[in-house]
Amino acid sequence: MKLCPCGYYGDPKRQCTCAPQQVRNYLNRVSGPLLDRIDIQVQVPAVPFKELSADTAGPSSVSVREKVVEARERQARRLEGSGVFCNAQMGTALTRQHCRLSNAGLSLLEKAMERLGLSARAYGRIHKIARTIADLEGSETIGMSHLSEAIGYRSLDRSIA
Ligand SMILES: [Zn+2]
Repeated sequence: MKLCPCGYYGDPKRQCTCAPQQVRNYLNRVSGPLLDRIDIQVQVPAVPFKELSADTAGPSSVSVREKVVEARERQARRLEGSGVFCNAQMGTALTRQHCRLSNAGLSLLEKAMERLGLSARAYGRIHKIARTIADLEGSETIGMSHLSEAIGYRSLDRSIA
């Protein structure tokens, strides 16, 4: 999805030529309720062809798959008997029960909510995404790093604010 009429808003290499008001109008038209329903928002700048064709040594699909399978198993065990089997399916009560934040975490999230003007829905999503990031690391508690990463995934809300 383009983030502005010219398509370069947020691109580190090319300058967006739109006026701030134009960007805001554009995002507001596509966004609000729509972006709110998307769990994870990440800005992905255009990748230069050279980098696409280079041999990059990212994590192998096999090792990523193993981590995902383990995280799903962890979630299924935690949610056993609740009627759902993964974090994304948790309603408000389950989210409250299984996504506890430390006091420091709560205050970080509160500040982010205020600064980014996040909705109640985004608040719940951030809890669940942070829970999932912790699960991927094999951690039973949600740490500050998990929480800040989850907040970062609401990057488009931030552009609008
Ligand atoms: Zn632009």
